[in-house]
Amino acid sequence: ESVIVAIDGPSGTGKSSTSKAVASALGLSYLDTGAQYRAITWWMLSNGIDTADPLAIASAAGKPVIESGTDPAAPAITVDGVDASGPIRTQEVTSKVSAVSAVPEVREVITGLQRSIAAAAARGIVVEGRDIGTTVLPDADLKIFLTASPEARAARRSGEIKGSDVAATRAALVARDAADSGRKTSPLAKADDAVEVDTTELTLQQVVERVVALVEE
Ligand code: C5P
Repeated sequence: ESVIVAIDGPSGTGKSSTSKAVASALGLSYLDTGAQYRAITWWMLSNGIDTADPLAIASAAGKPVIESGTDPAAPAITVDGVDASGPIRTQEVTSKVSAVSAVPEVREVITGLQRSIAAAAARGIVVEGRDIGTTVLPDADLKIFLTASPEARAARRSGEIKGSDVAATRAALVARDAADSGRKTSPLAKADDAVEVDTTELTLQQVVERVVALVEE
């Protein structure tokens, strides 16, 4: 029997670490949907598409071929056959991804990919993102919405980025959340039937144990 777990929330809440660890613990597949939006953004930037022009983005949305690996121990993503796992983490991509992912044609393409990957996962899958429980997989068996204080989130994110300053990281995170929550199509949102877990005072292991227990309930 296959189980679908949706894990949504803003960045810096421990979403990726939690999702990978839960998938590994339960022997499930794993999908990082943020990586897909980053990949299409990287393709737009590499192909001279103006990321401030929603019409240009919309007409190019179907062009890149994005393929995601689903092994939680080795997440992989390629664009037109090229490994994109490094380039999708640059500051440039991070600063443009909200604008690209707000374009409805982009969401349509990426949501289609996500649904077919989830349907193909034999044992089940943990899918992390912003709109998985509300829009992509509204029939998921379990929906989790992770939160954390802006201070905790900025501190975690800064720890991951070499030489970064916490105040600047915090400002960038808050701006990205506002853009992701404010867009018209499938904004960052908690589904009515999602379980909210505030990770501010919890270790990764505690969050993982809580989510695994909820899956096994
Ligand atoms: O999770 P991550 O920080 O890598 O996500 C990058 C961006 O991708 C988010 O800021 C958001 O703009 C977009 N995204 C989205 N819907 C998702 C996942 C990510 O719009 N389900």
